[in-house]
Amino acid sequence: MMVVDAHVHFFSHRFFEILASQKPGLTIDMVREKMVRQKLDWEFPPTRPADLANQWVRDLDRHGVHRAALIASVPADEASVIAAARTHPDRFLTFAMVNPRSWNPESLGGIRAACLFPSMHAYSMHDDLVRPVFEWASQGPRAVFVHCGVLSVGVRGKLGLPAAFDLRYSNPVDLHDMAMRYPQVPIIVPHFGAGYFREALMLADLCPNMYLDTSSSNRWMLYQEADLDLRQVFRRALDVVGPKRLLFGTDSSFFPRGWHYKIFEDQATALYELDVSAADAQGIFGENLLRILPH
Ligand SMILES: [Zn+2]
Repeated sequence: MMVVDAHVHFFSHRFFEILASQKPGLTIDMVREKMVRQKLDWEFPPTRPADLANQWVRDLDRHGVHRAALIASVPADEASVIAAARTHPDRFLTFAMVNPRSWNPESLGGIRAACLFPSMHAYSMHDDLVRPVFEWASQGPRAVFVHCGVLSVGVRGKLGLPAAFDLRYSNPVDLHDMAMRYPQVPIIVPHFGAGYFREALMLADLCPNMYLDTSSSNRWMLYQEADLDLRQVFRRALDVVGPKRLLFGTDSSFFPRGWHYKIFEDQATALYELDVSAADAQGIFGENLLRILPH
Protein backbone atom coordinates (compact mmCIF):
# COMPACT_ATOMS: atom_id res chain seq x y z
CA MET A 1 0.00 0.00 0.00
CA MET A 2 1.14 3.50 -0.79
CA VAL A 3 1.30 5.65 2.33
CA VAL A 4 1.19 9.43 2.18
CA ASP A 5 1.23 11.33 5.46
CA ALA A 6 -0.94 14.46 5.25
CA HIS A 7 0.42 16.03 8.44
CA VAL A 8 4.11 16.26 9.34
CA HIS A 9 5.60 19.33 11.01
CA PHE A 10 8.91 20.49 9.59
CA PHE A 11 10.66 21.96 12.63
CA SER A 12 13.44 23.67 10.72
CA HIS A 13 16.30 25.75 12.06
CA ARG A 14 14.48 28.83 10.81
CA PHE A 15 11.37 27.71 12.71
CA PHE A 16 13.33 27.89 15.97
CA GLU A 17 14.91 31.20 14.98
CA ILE A 18 11.49 32.72 14.42
CA LEU A 19 10.15 31.29 17.68
CA ALA A 20 13.17 32.62 19.57
CA SER A 21 12.59 36.09 18.08
CA GLN A 22 9.11 36.09 19.60
CA LYS A 23 10.47 36.33 23.13
CA PRO A 24 12.62 39.32 24.05
CA GLY A 25 16.09 38.26 25.10
CA LEU A 26 15.77 34.73 23.71
CA THR A 27 18.30 33.75 21.04
CA ILE A 28 18.64 30.71 18.84
CA ASP A 29 21.76 29.70 20.78
CA MET A 30 19.80 29.81 24.02
CA VAL A 31 17.11 27.66 22.42
CA ARG A 32 19.70 25.11 21.34
CA GLU A 33 21.28 25.12 24.76
CA LYS A 34 17.88 24.78 26.44
CA MET A 35 17.01 21.80 24.28
CA VAL A 36 20.26 20.08 25.12
CA ARG A 37 20.32 20.98 28.81
CA GLN A 38 16.72 20.04 29.49
CA LYS A 39 17.26 16.76 27.69
CA LEU A 40 14.02 17.41 25.86
CA ASP A 41 14.26 14.23 23.79
CA TRP A 42 14.29 16.65 20.88
CA GLU A 43 17.24 17.02 18.61
CA PHE A 44 18.10 20.51 17.52
CA PRO A 45 17.69 20.56 13.71
CA PRO A 46 20.53 20.96 11.22
CA THR A 47 20.99 24.49 9.90
CA ARG A 48 20.17 23.68 6.28
CA PRO A 49 16.59 22.63 5.48
CA ALA A 50 17.98 20.22 2.86
CA ASP A 51 19.80 18.31 5.61
CA LEU A 52 16.62 18.06 7.68
CA ALA A 53 14.80 16.94 4.52
CA ASN A 54 17.40 14.18 4.07
CA GLN A 55 16.84 13.11 7.65
CA TRP A 56 13.09 12.87 7.02
CA VAL A 57 13.58 10.92 3.80
CA ARG A 58 15.77 8.37 5.59
CA ASP A 59 13.07 7.96 8.22
CA LEU A 60 10.21 7.73 5.72
CA ASP A 61 12.21 5.12 3.80
CA ARG A 62 12.73 3.12 6.99
CA HIS A 63 8.94 2.95 7.42
CA GLY A 64 8.02 2.55 3.75
CA VAL A 65 6.23 5.91 3.61
CA HIS A 66 6.06 7.31 0.09
CA ARG A 67 5.36 10.96 0.72
CA ALA A 68 4.63 13.44 3.42
CA ALA A 69 3.05 16.86 3.56
CA LEU A 70 5.61 18.99 5.40
CA ILE A 71 4.11 21.87 7.31
CA ALA A 72 6.17 25.01 7.82
CA SER A 73 4.90 25.51 11.34
CA VAL A 74 5.32 29.21 11.95
CA PRO A 75 4.50 32.07 9.55
CA ALA A 76 7.49 33.16 7.41
CA ASP A 77 9.16 29.74 7.44
CA GLU A 78 7.75 28.61 4.09
CA ALA A 79 11.19 28.81 2.45
CA SER A 80 12.28 25.84 4.58
CA VAL A 81 9.65 23.43 3.24
CA ILE A 82 10.10 24.78 -0.28
CA ALA A 83 13.83 23.99 0.02
CA ALA A 84 13.00 20.51 1.39
CA ALA A 85 10.69 19.79 -1.53
CA ARG A 86 13.28 21.06 -3.98
CA THR A 87 15.74 18.55 -2.54
CA HIS A 88 13.23 15.67 -2.77
CA PRO A 89 10.45 16.65 -5.20
CA ASP A 90 8.92 13.15 -5.22
CA ARG A 91 8.68 12.85 -1.47
CA PHE A 92 7.22 16.03 -0.09
CA LEU A 93 4.18 18.21 -0.44
CA THR A 94 4.57 21.70 0.94
CA PHE A 95 2.17 23.18 3.48
CA ALA A 96 2.79 26.45 5.30
CA MET A 97 1.29 28.18 8.30
CA VAL A 98 0.22 31.67 7.36
CA ASN A 99 -1.18 34.57 9.31
CA PRO A 100 -3.72 36.35 7.10
CA ARG A 101 -2.85 39.59 8.90
CA SER A 102 0.54 39.46 7.21
CA TRP A 103 -0.55 37.73 4.02
CA ASN A 104 2.23 37.66 1.45
CA PRO A 105 1.45 35.27 -1.42
CA GLU A 106 4.70 36.13 -3.22
CA SER A 107 6.61 34.11 -0.64
CA LEU A 108 4.38 31.06 -1.17
CA GLY A 109 5.64 29.95 -4.58
CA GLY A 110 5.43 26.15 -4.59
CA ILE A 111 3.27 25.94 -1.45
CA ARG A 112 0.31 23.59 -1.90
CA ALA A 113 -1.71 24.39 1.19
CA ALA A 114 -1.99 27.48 3.38
CA CYS A 115 -2.51 26.52 7.01
CA LEU A 116 -4.70 28.80 9.08
CA PHE A 117 -4.70 28.78 12.88
CA PRO A 118 -7.51 31.23 13.73
CA SER A 119 -7.32 30.63 17.49
CA MET A 120 -3.55 31.22 17.50
CA HIS A 121 -3.68 34.48 15.54
CA ALA A 122 -7.07 35.62 16.89
CA TYR A 123 -9.26 36.18 13.87
CA SER A 124 -12.58 34.82 12.79
CA MET A 125 -13.11 32.77 9.68
CA HIS A 126 -15.90 35.27 8.96
CA ASP A 127 -13.40 38.11 8.76
CA ASP A 128 -12.71 39.49 5.27
CA LEU A 129 -9.00 39.04 5.83
CA VAL A 130 -9.23 35.30 5.14
CA ARG A 131 -10.64 35.91 1.64
CA PRO A 132 -7.30 36.46 -0.12
CA VAL A 133 -6.12 33.10 1.21
CA PHE A 134 -9.06 31.36 -0.44
CA GLU A 135 -8.57 33.42 -3.61
CA TRP A 136 -4.97 32.22 -3.71
CA ALA A 137 -6.05 28.60 -3.17
CA SER A 138 -8.71 28.83 -5.87
CA GLN A 139 -5.93 29.53 -8.40
CA GLY A 140 -4.46 26.14 -7.46
CA PRO A 141 -4.87 23.16 -7.24
CA ARG A 142 -4.18 24.26 -3.69
CA ALA A 143 -5.86 23.62 -0.37
CA VAL A 144 -6.60 25.56 2.78
CA PHE A 145 -5.95 23.78 6.06
CA VAL A 146 -7.77 25.22 9.08
CA HIS A 147 -6.87 24.12 12.57
CA CYS A 148 -10.02 23.96 14.66
CA GLY A 149 -10.70 22.78 18.21
CA VAL A 150 -8.14 22.40 20.93
CA LEU A 151 -4.69 23.64 20.05
CA SER A 152 -1.58 22.97 22.06
CA VAL A 153 1.87 23.54 20.65
CA GLY A 154 4.25 21.52 22.78
CA VAL A 155 7.37 23.29 21.59
CA ARG A 156 6.08 26.70 22.69
CA GLY A 157 5.59 25.45 26.23
CA LYS A 158 9.03 23.84 26.28
CA LEU A 159 10.62 27.10 25.23
CA GLY A 160 8.56 29.17 27.66
CA LEU A 161 6.78 31.05 24.88
CA PRO A 162 3.31 32.44 25.42
CA ALA A 163 0.52 30.28 24.04
CA ALA A 164 -2.55 32.43 24.61
CA PHE A 165 -4.82 30.85 22.04
CA ASP A 166 -8.39 32.01 21.77
CA LEU A 167 -10.75 29.06 21.54
CA ARG A 168 -13.68 31.18 20.44
CA TYR A 169 -12.22 31.19 16.91
CA SER A 170 -11.90 27.43 16.71
CA ASN A 171 -15.32 26.12 15.74
CA PRO A 172 -15.43 24.36 12.35
CA VAL A 173 -18.96 25.72 11.85
CA ASP A 174 -17.31 29.11 11.20
CA LEU A 175 -15.85 27.64 8.00
CA HIS A 176 -19.23 27.12 6.43
CA ASP A 177 -19.39 30.47 4.66
CA MET A 178 -15.93 30.19 3.07
CA ALA A 179 -16.53 26.55 2.14
CA MET A 180 -19.68 27.60 0.29
CA ARG A 181 -18.08 30.62 -1.40
CA TYR A 182 -15.11 28.57 -2.63
CA PRO A 183 -16.58 25.16 -3.44
CA GLN A 184 -13.58 24.31 -5.64
CA VAL A 185 -11.08 24.82 -2.79
CA PRO A 186 -10.42 21.71 -0.70
CA ILE A 187 -10.51 22.62 2.99
CA ILE A 188 -8.72 20.31 5.40
CA VAL A 189 -9.69 20.20 9.07
CA PRO A 190 -7.07 18.25 11.05
CA HIS A 191 -7.58 15.76 13.89
CA PHE A 192 -11.27 15.17 12.97
CA GLY A 193 -11.95 18.67 14.34
CA ALA A 194 -9.88 18.23 17.55
CA GLY A 195 -12.84 18.20 19.89
CA TYR A 196 -15.46 19.46 17.45
CA PHE A 197 -16.06 16.08 15.87
CA ARG A 198 -19.80 16.59 15.57
CA GLU A 199 -19.40 20.07 14.06
CA ALA A 200 -16.72 18.86 11.66
CA LEU A 201 -19.05 16.08 10.51
CA MET A 202 -21.94 18.54 10.09
CA LEU A 203 -19.78 20.77 7.93
CA ALA A 204 -18.40 17.89 5.88
CA ASP A 205 -21.92 16.59 5.35
CA LEU A 206 -22.99 19.96 3.93
CA CYS A 207 -19.85 20.84 1.98
CA PRO A 208 -18.27 18.35 -0.45
CA ASN A 209 -15.01 20.34 -0.39
CA MET A 210 -14.41 19.57 3.30
CA TYR A 211 -11.76 17.01 4.21
CA LEU A 212 -10.80 15.66 7.62
CA ASP A 213 -7.30 14.64 8.54
CA THR A 214 -6.98 11.77 10.96
CA SER A 215 -3.68 12.84 12.51
CA SER A 216 -2.35 12.75 16.07
CA SER A 217 -3.29 10.59 19.02
CA ASN A 218 -6.80 12.10 18.83
CA ARG A 219 -6.79 12.69 22.54
CA TRP A 220 -9.87 14.89 21.99
CA MET A 221 -11.89 11.67 22.19
CA LEU A 222 -11.77 12.24 25.96
CA TYR A 223 -14.06 15.26 25.53
CA GLN A 224 -16.84 13.24 23.99
CA GLU A 225 -19.87 12.52 26.10
CA ALA A 226 -20.02 8.92 25.08
CA ASP A 227 -16.97 6.71 25.35
CA LEU A 228 -15.46 6.83 21.92
CA ASP A 229 -12.55 4.90 20.51
CA LEU A 230 -10.68 5.38 17.28
CA ARG A 231 -12.62 2.62 15.57
CA GLN A 232 -15.92 4.33 16.36
CA VAL A 233 -14.52 7.66 15.21
CA PHE A 234 -13.60 6.15 11.85
CA ARG A 235 -16.94 4.35 11.62
CA ARG A 236 -18.84 7.58 12.14
CA ALA A 237 -16.59 9.57 9.81
CA LEU A 238 -16.93 6.92 7.10
CA ASP A 239 -20.71 6.95 7.47
CA VAL A 240 -20.99 10.74 7.18
CA VAL A 241 -17.97 11.89 5.18
CA GLY A 242 -17.19 8.71 3.25
CA PRO A 243 -13.81 7.20 2.40
CA LYS A 244 -12.81 9.79 -0.24
CA ARG A 245 -12.49 12.75 2.10
CA LEU A 246 -10.49 11.31 4.97
CA LEU A 247 -6.76 11.99 4.87
CA PHE A 248 -4.39 9.90 6.92
CA GLY A 249 -1.86 11.86 8.95
CA THR A 250 0.39 11.33 11.95
CA ASP A 251 1.31 14.82 13.23
CA SER A 252 4.97 13.71 13.39
CA SER A 253 7.34 16.55 14.19
CA PHE A 254 10.70 16.00 15.84
CA PHE A 255 13.71 13.73 15.94
CA PRO A 256 14.87 11.33 17.22
CA ARG A 257 11.29 10.06 17.31
CA GLY A 258 10.83 10.88 13.64
CA TRP A 259 7.89 9.39 11.80
CA HIS A 260 5.27 8.39 14.36
CA TYR A 261 4.69 4.79 13.40
CA LYS A 262 2.38 4.03 16.33
CA ILE A 263 -0.23 6.48 15.00
CA PHE A 264 -0.20 4.68 11.66
CA GLU A 265 -0.44 1.31 13.35
CA ASP A 266 -3.42 2.36 15.49
CA GLN A 267 -5.30 3.81 12.54
CA ALA A 268 -4.53 0.89 10.24
CA THR A 269 -5.75 -1.49 12.96
CA ALA A 270 -8.97 0.47 13.42
CA LEU A 271 -9.69 0.40 9.68
CA TYR A 272 -8.83 -3.29 9.48
CA GLU A 273 -11.23 -4.08 12.32
CA LEU A 274 -13.92 -2.09 10.53
CA ASP A 275 -13.38 -4.25 7.48
CA VAL A 276 -12.74 -1.25 5.25
CA SER A 277 -12.02 -2.30 1.67
CA ALA A 278 -8.48 -2.16 0.31
CA ALA A 279 -9.53 0.53 -2.17
CA ASP A 280 -11.03 2.73 0.54
CA ALA A 281 -8.01 2.23 2.79
CA GLN A 282 -5.75 3.21 -0.10
CA GLY A 283 -7.75 6.37 -0.54
CA ILE A 284 -7.42 7.31 3.12
CA PHE A 285 -3.74 6.37 3.35
CA GLY A 286 -2.67 8.41 0.36
CA GLU A 287 -4.70 8.59 -2.83
CA ASN A 288 -7.18 11.14 -1.53
CA LEU A 289 -4.49 13.69 -0.74
CA LEU A 290 -2.74 13.16 -4.07
CA ARG A 291 -6.07 13.52 -5.86
CA ILE A 292 -6.77 16.95 -4.37
CA LEU A 293 -3.15 18.06 -4.67
CA PRO A 294 -1.86 16.35 -7.82
CA HIS A 295 1.84 16.49 -8.38
ZN1 LIG B 1 -0.05 19.24 13.85
